Amino acid sequence: MKTESPRLRNERGGGRALYGIAGVALLALSGCVSTQIEYDRMTNTGFPANQTVGGKTVSITSIYATESYIVGVSQDQTNIAALTGPANPADPNQYDYITEAELDTVEQANRSSPVGKINWLCFTMGIVPSYCTLYHIYGLVVNHWYEDPDGDRDQNTLGIAWTTSNRRAFANFWRNTTVSGNAGKYLRSTAHEIGHVFNLHHADGNGTTDIMNQTGVVGNSYVYEFQAAASKDHLRDHSDRCKYPGLSAFGALHEGHVDHGITTKRCLNILIKPVAGTVVNP
Ligand SMILES: [Zn+2]
Ligand SMILES: [Zn+2]
Ligand SMILES: [Zn+2]
Repeated sequence: MKTESPRLRNERGGGRALYGIAGVALLALSGCVSTQIEYDRMTNTGFPANQTVGGKTVSITSIYATESYIVGVSQDQTNIAALTGPANPADPNQYDYITEAELDTVEQANRSSPVGKINWLCFTMGIVPSYCTLYHIYGLVVNHWYEDPDGDRDQNTLGIAWTTSNRRAFANFWRNTTVSGNAGKYLRSTAHEIGHVFNLHHADGNGTTDIMNQTGVVGNSYVYEFQAAASKDHLRDHSDRCKYPGLSAFGALHEGHVDHGITTKRCLNILIKPVAGTVVNP
């Protein structure tokens, strides 16, 4: 069963030591890089709920914390109106589905967080300034099914990280019966889409249980973990610009990561402008 578009993407980066300042203090700096999700939803939908596994609470934050990333979730708007319009007798189901262009429009109307990163001076150790960095992701739960750019309407798609140019956002499709009816898989699917935002790909999964395998592939045997070496290596070792949201294209070529042939753009040496959708690859 097709559960997510193969065009999806996401991934992320997390706490890391800054600069080459003296050893011990670096541990204390590990909280200086973080990512915040601005999460909106349409009326009569729900955000993915935390789950309990083996007596422990699993959340988006805990899943990414396991890979040493700090990812916060800010549930924001909860009553965005579903898309509608004049009834077309020739296409009565039009507004049951949402296109990527329409997702862009909803994002632009409701997103209040910037694309890319912001930096600020955290503290000064002696005369050495230390900077903190915050990256941003926009998440949106829509009360629709997905319509792909070819006009194909797909009730099996759970979610998508549709912003391939700069990996800035993802969407969940509430009308999909797994999203609205299976809370465990809904949380898993959301972590998967965020993996795409961090520039991880289906090919980076282990083919069976990894977060980066599609929900339809893992079936009921899923775990809330990145398990494959390709996923873990990327999150741990690859450059920030190739991982963090808003900085480069989905699948952009970068050192150390398998070229899946998704894009020929490079993820390094890009220009970033502080407006959605304006990342430019030289
Ligand atoms: Zn996917
Ligand atoms: Zn990959
Ligand atoms: Zn990588």
